[in-house]
Formats: sequence, C-alpha cells, structure tokens
Amino acid sequence: MEIVVCIKQVPDPGHIQLDPKTGTIIRGGVPAIINTVDKNALEAALQLRKINGGRVTVVSMGPPSTVEALQEALALGADRAALASDRAFAGADTLATSVTLAALINKTGPFDLVLCGYSSLDGGTAQVGPQTAAILEVPFFTAVQKMEKSAAGIQVEMETEEGVVAAESSLPALATITKGMNRPRGIRLSEAKKAKNKELFTYDLQGLGLSDDQVGEKGSGVCMVEVLPLPAGRDAEIISGEPEEIAGKIQGEIMKLGLQSRGGNK
Ligand SMILES: Cc1cc2nc3c(=O)[nH]c(=O)nc-3n(C[C@H](O)[C@H](O)[C@H](O)COP(=O)(O)OP(=O)(O)OC[C@H]3O[C@@H](n4cnc5c(N)ncnc54)[C@H](O)[C@@H]3O)c2cc1C
Repeated sequence: MEIVVCIKQVPDPGHIQLDPKTGTIIRGGVPAIINTVDKNALEAALQLRKINGGRVTVVSMGPPSTVEALQEALALGADRAALASDRAFAGADTLATSVTLAALINKTGPFDLVLCGYSSLDGGTAQVGPQTAAILEVPFFTAVQKMEKSAAGIQVEMETEEGVVAAESSLPALATITKGMNRPRGIRLSEAKKAKNKELFTYDLQGLGLSDDQVGEKGSGVCMVEVLPLPAGRDAEIISGEPEEIAGKIQGEIMKLGLQSRGGNK
C-alpha cells in the first residue's frame, strides 16, 4: 500500500500567545510540534504498512523549519518525506493549503490512501482533509476511529454525533483520523538511526507546477478579519447541605450546562 500522511507543524499550545495589536498568533520563538492527532494518523499508516506491506510518505506545507517535523516523522518510522515550501505559500487559507498539499501528494506519485489528522491544534477547521480529497478527486471519510484494508479497498468506522458509522470505499481514498484510533509510538533508537538516510524532498511553487494565484494569500478565498482570544475565567460555587441535596444541586447544574452547550435543544 502506498500511504501518504499529511502532518502539520503547529506552535506548542502551552506557549501560544496572541499579538494584542494584530490579533494573530505570535509564532516567532514559540517551540513547534507535530500536530498531535497527525501522530495518530502516522501510527495508523505504520500499522497498515506492517499488515499489508508498502510505503509511508509524510508530507507537509510550511516554512523551511518544517523539515524538523518531517525528520521526526521519519525517525518514527515513515519511509520518505516531502515538503512544500515557498514564500508564495504564506498566508494560505484552508483552500490554498489543500491545493498545495494535493499538488505535493500527486508529486510523490500514485497513492492508495491519504491520511490526515481530524483537525489541527491551531487553525482547527477540520477542512483540509475533505478539501484535499475533493481536489484529488477521491472519496473521503472523516473522524475515523477504526480502519482496515478490505477486499473492496478500505473499511472504516467514523465517529458522528449520532454514533459510530461503518463505511467502506474503493482505493484511492482519504481519511481523517481521530485521537481515539490508536496510541502513537515514541521514537525507537533503531528507527532514528535509519532516518538520516531516508529521502526528504523539498518543492517550491515552480516545482509543484502551481501558479502564484492558486496558493498563499492570492489563492485564498477567505480573508481573516480579526482573531479574538476567548475570555478565560473560572467560576466556583460551594454547594452545601445533606448528601442527597448536594447531589440534586450538582445534577441540576450539569443539566443546565448540558442544555446550554446544545443551544437549548434536548
Ligand atoms: C486568510 C487566512 C490567512 C492565514 N494565514 C496563515 C499564515 O500566514 N500562516 C499559517 O501558518 N496559517 C495561516 N492561516 C491558517 C491556515 O489557513 C491554516 O492553518 C491551514 O490552512 C490549515 O488549516 P487548519 O489548521 O484549520 O487545518 P485542519 O483542516 O484543522 O487540519 C486537518 C489536518 O490537515 C492536515 N494539514 C493541515 N494543514 C497542513 C499543512 N500545512 N501541511 C500538512 N498537513 C496539513 C493535517 O493532517 C491536519 O491534522 C491563515 C488562515 C486564513 C483564513
């Protein structure tokens, strides 16, 4: 199986701050990590490779420093890596990101399966997987928690608000993976040693055969107007009384919160 895993390098959430003037994330000087659920996608790919054979390619779009995330993925066991990096890609919305990723994936050659994380820790739109699938013209599954190769192609279980949905499609296909799918491995010394001899390709705008009005800010349909931090605060209330009375009050508070989070609908 030829499996491609999209990994995004994101600022470590423990260090994220917003620029109070521009409202944008301050990225300079903030340690970067692989988007955590993308490690679940990589783990899923490595497990599929173990059962079915084949190759795992990790891809990313980002500044040159994204190479570190790809090197980490190679040390975790991926076979090769490819980075799309060019000044023209800066300021991309999810559409421009997906256009670039789809071109990068096609550049790596024919594939059976593309895996993405369900959503990123910073942008968090969960749009890139489905949009990339649409551009690649392949079927896709979102929020996948279980997956295996089947006679027809790929069989999955997806998390939905109504419950778990089982589905199947032919290959090639794309799936976005949730955290519940597996427990990502750590780096093993034997794999880490092999990583430095693995291929890592870098492509710029020209190398991907794209034009500058398809990517970055120019290729973006969405314009960011303002980013506001969520008001952070804590409320505490001491509940006193007899145990049954306390339990009743707590139940009432939980019910109220539950109804609020569903917008008042049962
Ligand atoms: C107008 C506008 C301007 C923006 N400018 C910038 C900017 O200058 N710099 C910036 O960093 N962000 C910028 N962003 C944010 C940017 O759109 C998103 O970070 C990016 O498009 C991915 O969307 P997301 O984070 O919501 O991904 P999601 O859809 O939540 O991610 C789902 C999965 O897609 C894959 N994925 C997502 N992005 C990548 C990637 N780059 N490489 C590989 N895999 C990926 C991963 O597997 C990830 O788990 C901008 C957004 C807008 C709307």
